[in-house]
Amino acid sequence: MSLRVANLVKHFGGVKALDGVDFEVPAGQCVALIGPNGAGKSTCFACLAGQLTPSAGRVFWQGRDITDRSAAQRMSLGMARTFQVAQTFEALTALQNVQLVRSRHRLSWWDRLSARFPQQSLQDLQSVGLDRVADTVAADLPYGARKRLELALALAGLPEHGQRLLLLDEPAAGLAPTERAAMMGLVRQVASRGVTVLYTEHNMDAVFGVADRVLVLMQGRKVADGDPAAVALDPQVREGYLGRDFALQPLQEGPHVRS
Ligand code: ADP
Ligand code: MG
Repeated sequence: MSLRVANLVKHFGGVKALDGVDFEVPAGQCVALIGPNGAGKSTCFACLAGQLTPSAGRVFWQGRDITDRSAAQRMSLGMARTFQVAQTFEALTALQNVQLVRSRHRLSWWDRLSARFPQQSLQDLQSVGLDRVADTVAADLPYGARKRLELALALAGLPEHGQRLLLLDEPAAGLAPTERAAMMGLVRQVASRGVTVLYTEHNMDAVFGVADRVLVLMQGRKVADGDPAAVALDPQVREGYLGRDFALQPLQEGPHVRS
């Protein structure tokens, strides 16, 4: 088992953002974590990636308890994440962004960033379709390109070998429908290269037809976990989130679920 979450609890004062969540993600699966706004998806991600310490419960990665490991330690063990709002180094070019991450941020004043991993970094950009804007400063990239760059950065930060897990918080958030389809195509490509993927999503067109499996959170609890088609028919999920009229539709034309 690649990732295992046992009885995860996170309180913010009186708010129970996570109220005893259990699930497993086997190596190589592409799993979507969905649920209404405030369901606890981002909190769950932050507990998995190490930005937040859970109030109770444990997180295991490849059988090892990593609950008390820092985000940086988790990354060196093969876990990386992206954020709901793209996080890049705004003042650097797309290529320099990747070079910096590939250098593991360990640069001395005498190091020239341009000399660090230029070939691999360009390949990283190629793999997300950004090689043609390699020399554009991140702040000047359109938002869709920044989301792709963030994906490239998360991948570049992972070790070359061993099991790898990519945690993506709303990878397609803020993108136009066609851009969303392209982004989710990229996520599928990453998964097909053997990287385990767990992502949150709010637009169902980026879930059904993309994920191998769907987990549903509501009010900090897991209410469904299984095959996408079965989850789409689950009465509790339809009642509480998808809507009774929900029907599966292909990417690009999918329905937008209300918050
Ligand atoms: P989702 O990502 O599913 O929309 P979140 O994990 O962001 O949900 O939030 C879950 C609940 O926890 C919400 O009620 C939210 O208001 C609360 N919450 C999240 N982060 C914090 C925080 N840093 N401080 C206080 N409350 C928070
Ligand atoms: Mg969120």
